[in-house]
Amino acid sequence: MSDDTHTGGCQCGAIRFRIEGALTEASVCHCRMCQKAFGAFYAPLVSVRDAKLVWTRGEPKKFQSSNAVARGFCADCGTPLTYEAPDGIALAIGAFDNPANLAPKVQWGVEAKLAFTDTIPSLPQHDTLADGNAGTFLKTLVSYQHPDHDTDAWPPK
Ligand SMILES: [Zn+2]
Ligand SMILES: [Zn+2]
Repeated sequence: MSDDTHTGGCQCGAIRFRIEGALTEASVCHCRMCQKAFGAFYAPLVSVRDAKLVWTRGEPKKFQSSNAVARGFCADCGTPLTYEAPDGIALAIGAFDNPANLAPKVQWGVEAKLAFTDTIPSLPQHDTLADGNAGTFLKTLVSYQHPDHDTDAWPPK
């Protein structure tokens, strides 16, 4: 795989995608529609532009969130996957197998920005197992999440 091949998919593995080509336009969008579509403080998105996007397993279900834009998501597990506008499609950065290469370069929709998002980096920080309430079940956790690479068949038989 070249540096310009990117793969990813939803949490359950019913939908997988591959992108060939450079991804240069990574952003977060704070607009109220993106907050709702992602169930999150903001939406991390990267535009496909001149790269080639192929759905290699399944395809997203779509919700038309306005007259211009549709939001794609996995109908089985709910993972938000796409923002599809007349000027192109963008993919949810967190759905990539290696999101660490897709750092956002700009923020959009700041008129709706939740002010506390600016202070999150200064909050106390703990690793997962440090949660005393959840630590007991986390120690024996079995993940059903699709792994961060393509698979021939999923779930495993
Ligand atoms: Zn899924
Ligand atoms: Zn938005």
